[in-house]
Parts: sequence; structure tokens; C-alpha cells
Amino acid sequence: MADNLIKIAYLYEDLMNTYGDSGDVKIVSHLLKKDGYDTQVDNISLGDEFNADDYDFVFFGGGQDFEQTVVAKDLPRHKDTLEKYVNSGNPMLCICGGYQLMGDYYKTNSGVTIKGLGIFPLHTVFKSDKRMIGDTKYMTEWGEVQAFENHSGQTYFDNTDRLHTFGDMIEGYGNNPQDKKEGLRYRNFIGSYSHGPLLKNVNIANAIVKMIIARHNDRLNQATSNEVAE
Ligand code: GLN
Repeated sequence: MADNLIKIAYLYEDLMNTYGDSGDVKIVSHLLKKDGYDTQVDNISLGDEFNADDYDFVFFGGGQDFEQTVVAKDLPRHKDTLEKYVNSGNPMLCICGGYQLMGDYYKTNSGVTIKGLGIFPLHTVFKSDKRMIGDTKYMTEWGEVQAFENHSGQTYFDNTDRLHTFGDMIEGYGNNPQDKKEGLRYRNFIGSYSHGPLLKNVNIANAIVKMIIARHNDRLNQATSNEVAE
């Protein structure tokens, strides 16, 4: 394993990339290059093999209901590897449609229920009242974030002991119109409704880059101790 090569998996880049989400991967790559790392971005699409253990960062962007339906059929193959990766505290960022698919289900405005991976106890439903669209502002543990949201799904946590939100809304909706909360933070997993892309907020980008470098160093140490053991 090359010492300074950071490997990034972009899940379904060709289908899940709304409102500038690909920019999140570009910003992370740019910051890592500035820190002296090389980066390799693998686009994992329908039918592709994927093992999260091979990566330092996994990204899953937003998508329209139709693309989510297509992706949801292929996604269950990756449940075990993603669940283990996330539960071991490795960095992953999911935006909007990708975030919804990490939960139990998303019931769309046409009454279709798209099954999610069920890695997190949360669900998303369309309610007739409103599409949540516009600029957002919220406070996170890394400071203020300004972004853009556009979704009809409203996300609700089913186990608030285990799940913590990513931010407290100042402007806009976030997860749903009632809670005034944005996204999900679980160990080094961030789920968010923020497009624009989110990581134009350099405080969040830097926090994620730090997680990625820590993960990379762990993988390097692991590879070295495996070699010693052989
Ligand atoms: N299709 C989903 C919704 O409308 C997600 C939208 C998105 O990813 N931008 O809620």
C-alpha cells in the first residue's frame, strides 16, 4: 500500500450527484493534495465490486427519486461492508438522497417505498405539506454551515439515544420542518441535506480531511503489522 495514496470511493457517482455534490469529493481531494497526498477516486456504480475496507473515505451524494429507486436495488450487496466500515468509526459523508438510503426507508410522493440499507434507525417520508427548498444555515460542533437544500423527503430518527444530529438549524428546514435539526452525526459518519456543495464550508471540509488522514494512518499501520506477522 502506497504511503501517501488516499483512496476515496464515490458510490454511484453517475446517478447520485445532485446540486454540486461531486464538488465535495473534489474539495476533499484538493485539500489532501495540498497536504502532500495523492488521491484516487473510484466511482462504484451498478454491479461494481466494492469493499469499504480498501478505502479511506466513502462518499454518497444526493439523487432524484427515480435514481434512488435504481440505486436501492443494487445497494444491499454493500450493506455488510458499509455497516462494518461506519460502525468502526471510519469517515463517510452522505448527502440528501444518499443519507436517506442509509436509513430504513424513504416513502416518496408517489407512494412508493424505497427500501434503504437500514444501517441507521431512521426513516424518510413525503408529507403533502411542502418541498424543502432554499438556503440553509445551521450550527455544528465545527461552527456554522451555509448551504442549500432541495428535498421532499422528511427524515425522522427512530432511536434518538443512538443517533445525534449534525447541526441545529438557524435558517431552512434540515431533516424535517418540525425538529429544527440538520442531518446525522454518528462517530465519523455525517449524513446531511446540504448541497452546494457542503464542503465549500471549509470548517467541515477540514474536519473530514482530518478524519480521512487518521483513517489512512490506521490502514498503513494495519498493513505494516500484517507484513510483520507474515
Ligand atoms: N429525492 C429525494 C427527495 O426529494 C432526495 C433529493 C436529493 O437528493 N436532492 O427527498
